[in-house]
Order: sequence, then structure tokens, then C-alpha cells
Amino acid sequence: MTVLVCGGAGYIGSHTVRELLDKGREVVVADSLVTGHRKAVDERASFYWGDLSDEAFLDVVFRENDIDAVIDFAAFSIVGESVTNPVKYFENNIGSTLCLLKKMNEYGVKHIVFSSTAAVYGEPEVVPITESDRTLPTNPYGESKLCVEKILKWFDNAYSLKYAVLRYFNAAGAHISGKIGEDHKPETHLIPIILDVALGKRDKISIFGDDYPTDDGTCVRDYIHVSDLARAHILALDKIMAENISVTYNLGNGNGFSVKEVIETARRVTGKEIPCDIAERRAGDPSVLIASSDKLTRELGFEPEFNTLEKIIETAWKWHSTHPDGYKDR
Ligand code: UDP
Repeated sequence: MTVLVCGGAGYIGSHTVRELLDKGREVVVADSLVTGHRKAVDERASFYWGDLSDEAFLDVVFRENDIDAVIDFAAFSIVGESVTNPVKYFENNIGSTLCLLKKMNEYGVKHIVFSSTAAVYGEPEVVPITESDRTLPTNPYGESKLCVEKILKWFDNAYSLKYAVLRYFNAAGAHISGKIGEDHKPETHLIPIILDVALGKRDKISIFGDDYPTDDGTCVRDYIHVSDLARAHILALDKIMAENISVTYNLGNGNGFSVKEVIETARRVTGKEIPCDIAERRAGDPSVLIASSDKLTRELGFEPEFNTLEKIIETAWKWHSTHPDGYKDR
């Protein structure tokens, strides 16, 4: 089976490419390299450099390969930037996915796994969050993903395109080999920033708000290892292809950790002091985001391999301490 992985040079995409190849699937990667890294793409995959909004580019990819299914990671994903520059997020995250879906239809490819996000829920009414809970995004990033979820529903209705929507909670960690990992520029995510402090690349980590209604006042998130996420994509793809159905799953561990707990764990894992201070709240941050992973476990038999925060941070530390400048260039 040949899988087209759009955004396969990015953080979660590159881990999924590896997982697919290790399971004997053929993989074609399409990536614009605007945020992804060529070096992150496994040599066993074929690589196409281009933009998903470019129909001629997609024609080449679909014509030259016998694609059976698509996994789509290609998107911008910085929440704060989406608030100040919504055009960029709607144009790219909705526009280019729509173009991809049109081409899939044209070439008779009927199955897609789509990266969505916990940001579609906005501020949750209850935690843990289940897939049927209200969706009310509080930023354009989440809104752009929710729009695509709705587009997928109408493509299924009109063209029998079957999809798995995967709503990620906080992806973290790195491949066990230490060869690929997280490298965003600029970096905005908690764990890589904490590890930059451990490496001496930053002076301190600023905790964005300690007056939230949580046990220690800092925000609580559900961290899931990137290789566990990657495995879940393959399980979901196999399910929608075998049963010819469309599904939506939360992808989380079902456990919440506060920002302070993450810093404490990183101190234990790295043996470094990791100074911190308290800063203003970051706009648009819900206080608690924890997934109910019941549906995922029940329907896909999914069990996370990296089931503690220690294990997740250990793999991230292995990557960051051996690649302090990430992939260096694209
Ligand atoms: N966070 C923080 N300091 C930082 C970066 C993040 O306190 O320098 C907090 C952020 O407010 C959130 C949590 O860490 O509560 C996780 O943030 P991240 O950006 O990693 O993921 P998000 O939850 O926004 O998807």
C-alpha cells in the first residue's frame, strides 16, 4: 500500500513516515519545507517539494504514484500567530487542504487521515473531553481545523470520501532513536523551551500564568508521545480502509500535567536546575485540556507505549541534547 503523507517533513509527519515505513508501507512525502525539514524525512520515502495549493504540483504527485490513501499533516499551527494573522491560517490550512481533497477526488483516492486538534473544543465545559463535546474554537488555528472537519463531512456525503479526524492534545517527545525530533522556528512549545533552558540556550522558562483554577495555578495539558500519535494514525487508517467508514478520535493519554509538574519532571530527567519565573497569561490558553481516550482505546485497541511524562521527556532530552540546533538547515 502506498500512502501520501502531506507535511511529512514536519514534527508529527516525519515520525509517522518512519512508523509507516517500519510497517512495510510505501511512503510518498509532499512538503513545502516552509516549516518542515528535508533532513527529517526518512531516506526510504520518495520526496516531492511543493505546495498543496498548487494543483499542477499535486497532479505530478498523483500521476507519478499509485496512491492508496492520504495522511495530511500540512498546516500552520502556532495559535498566537493565528490570532494576529488569521488570513494566513484560513488560506493555508483550509485552502490547501481543499485543493488536496479535490485532487484526491479527481484521482479516485477515497481515504484520508486528517490532523485536527484539541483547539477545536476551545474552553471545555467538562474534562476529560469526549469527541461528542461542543466545539467552539477560541482561535483561528482551531477554527481552521474545525472548518476542514466540516468540509470532510460534506465530501463524505457527496463523494463517499472516508476520513479519520484525529484531534491531537499535546504532542511531545522524540523518536526513540534520537535521530528525529521537534524543531520549530520560532519554538513556542513548553517542553522544547524547557529543554533549551536545561541546555543553557535560554536563561529561564517563563510560566504563562499561575492564577488558573488548577491545583497549582498553572495550566494543565495532556501530553502524548509523538511516536504513539504516529502509531494511532496507522491504526486509524487501517480501520477506515477495512470498514470504509469515517471516524473522529481524540488523541491523548487521558492524564493531565500542570506546567509546574512538567518543569519538575524535566529537572529530574535532565539533572539540571532549569530556572523559571511567572509571566502573564498567554491569550487564548484554556486552563485544562485533557482528552478522554476511551473511544480510541475501545475502537482501535490503542495503548500508549510512552505512558509516563518521564518517558516522554527522556526521549525529547535525547533528541535536544544531541541536536541543540535542531536540523540546522532545511
Ligand atoms: N507554556 C508556558 N511557557 C512557555 C510555553 C508554554 O507556560 O514558554 C504553557 C502554555 O501556556 C500552556 C502549556 O505550557 O499552558 C503548553 O503550551 P504549548 O505551547 O506547549 O502547547 P499548547 O497547549 O498551547 O498546544
